[in-house]
Amino acid sequence: MRTLESLGDLRGKRVLLRCDLNVPLRDGAITDDGRIRASLATIRELLATGAKVVVLSHLGRPDGPTPELSLAPVAERLANLLGQPVPHTATVTGDEARQAVEQLRDGGACMLENVRFDSRETSKDEAERASLAAEIAALGDAFVLDGFGVAHRKQASVSDLAELLPSAAGRLVERELDVLTRLTSAAERPYTVVLGGSKVSDKVAVIEHLLPRVDNLVIGGGMMFTFLAAQGFRTGQSLLESDQIEVAKQYLERARDLGVRVHLPLDVVVTEAFAAEAEATVVPADAIEGSKFGPSARGLDIGPETSSRYADVIRSSRTVFWNGPMGVFEFPRFAEGTRQIASALADVAGLSVVGGGDSAAAVRLLGFADESFGHVSTGGGASLEFLEGKRLPGLEALGWN
Ligand code: ADP
Ligand code: MG
Repeated sequence: MRTLESLGDLRGKRVLLRCDLNVPLRDGAITDDGRIRASLATIRELLATGAKVVVLSHLGRPDGPTPELSLAPVAERLANLLGQPVPHTATVTGDEARQAVEQLRDGGACMLENVRFDSRETSKDEAERASLAAEIAALGDAFVLDGFGVAHRKQASVSDLAELLPSAAGRLVERELDVLTRLTSAAERPYTVVLGGSKVSDKVAVIEHLLPRVDNLVIGGGMMFTFLAAQGFRTGQSLLESDQIEVAKQYLERARDLGVRVHLPLDVVVTEAFAAEAEATVVPADAIEGSKFGPSARGLDIGPETSSRYADVIRSSRTVFWNGPMGVFEFPRFAEGTRQIASALADVAGLSVVGGGDSAAAVRLLGFADESFGHVSTGGGASLEFLEGKRLPGLEALGWN
């Protein structure tokens, strides 16, 4: 894969830098700037070489121009972090964008508006995407893809643009690939994969691909109930994907054949309502409906016995990949399982990787610094697809194979 070195001397060159600055916002304020910080290394390096940096990103899933999804607050935060102005344009292409780029001095940066304001960005029609890519390409001399979170997208500012200019991967993409490659080949043993989050169906392909490579598979989050149901337990009103119960059974059998230990919860924190202040109690995993809530019990976190067992498995591993919170961490009362797992991960003597948008947000919300882990992946869907063994269009365009 081509890296920044392949682009030669960039002094005075206009570099179109596709980042993934899709940060969470609440009432127009950025609630987690992790993705902006993760992009700083490449931006700073390009600025230091005297390039003119034109930052491109999407934010949310707008259907045409949407003021609440403007990148203006993101440009402002980037300017603060860099300690230099980052003018933000009101459009993606056109005169205003051109003028902003023309005004850049060597070592200066600007940010174009949310690239998804232009519906051609995500169009399934190749010609439409190509026409937007050509308009953006006219603003630059080289293209750098640093938004690992969009590397799995066949989109105008990702794969199409890479075909039109000298192009290379940024440092963040390099680092992500370095770490993720260690998870698919040559992982140090014991190797443990911890999966949680809301849906089994999202994670089926990862389980498929990683099962033959790992020593332990640890299951929590909303998906644990489908596995509990596969064991024949009743799960009340907990999240359940009935159409995945058979699949879960098959994985449990495959794991047994492969000698992989699958860890399922021993106890569960249940409540009656899906609410922050809901009264909660701990029950054994095989007696969810035996709680005082009866069949209306709903599991929102792993219980304390489970957390401590899972933490032991994690701490005694040399490689750990974790995707998916253990419970509804957005409610502090149901965040304890996720906290215990994060804390165990931080103690791993070896490589620990947190992947997934919500998982990364959860560890930050719970007060863990990114540095506590070996790596916090910025790409949710992209890292999962990579671990599933899929080919990512954004990387293929940069010569990855
Ligand atoms: P990631 O983005 O890290 O891949 P997911 O999107 O798969 O993670 O899942 C995150 C969501 O899973 C969180 O919003 C969390 O509230 C939810 N979740 C975790 N445990 C449960 C549960 N027991 N019941 C319902 N939702 C859950
Ligand atoms: Mg998610």
